Amino acid sequence: MWVGALAPTRTERNSFAEAAKYNAVCYERSRRMLIDGLIDMKPRGAYVLHLKLSRPLRLAVGSLGMVSFPAGFYAYVGSARKGLAARVARHKRLAVRKSGNPHWHVDFLLVHPQASWAGETILEDGVECEVSKQIASQQGVRAPVPGFGSSDCRLGCRAHLYLMPKNHALNKGGIFSR
Ligand SMILES: [Zn+2]
Repeated sequence: MWVGALAPTRTERNSFAEAAKYNAVCYERSRRMLIDGLIDMKPRGAYVLHLKLSRPLRLAVGSLGMVSFPAGFYAYVGSARKGLAARVARHKRLAVRKSGNPHWHVDFLLVHPQASWAGETILEDGVECEVSKQIASQQGVRAPVPGFGSSDCRLGCRAHLYLMPKNHALNKGGIFSR
């Protein structure tokens, strides 16, 4: 209710309405930013899965088709933009149960009976290709399956799956070294 001289003019009324609309937009925008911020707080980063093949395998791997894997210890590098631990847990579930729907290249390997889970390294804020390059630079490391796990690679890695030399060990950063 507007009384006498205090009643706003039509122009003022319009600008109040505009201001209210603007406030609503600002409110919604900051609410969104808060929600996105909370989502962002969930850990993102890279991970390394360690697995062992007790004997050589020949296996169909999604888009790669039939692929040969020599026996040995492997390191696979992946990443998640959020829910890093959940992603690793999903891979592990496939590896332990030997069932489930393979989605990433490595899943095809994980569900195979001859592949055994040998641990994982979670690198919060790690960058997939940087970790991959670090592993690739170790002496004796090979990438026997070109393109494996590296469909979205930006640094020209041969693959994101590495066959480790026999006497490798993990250093503190979770990166393999001899
Ligand atoms: Zn890469």
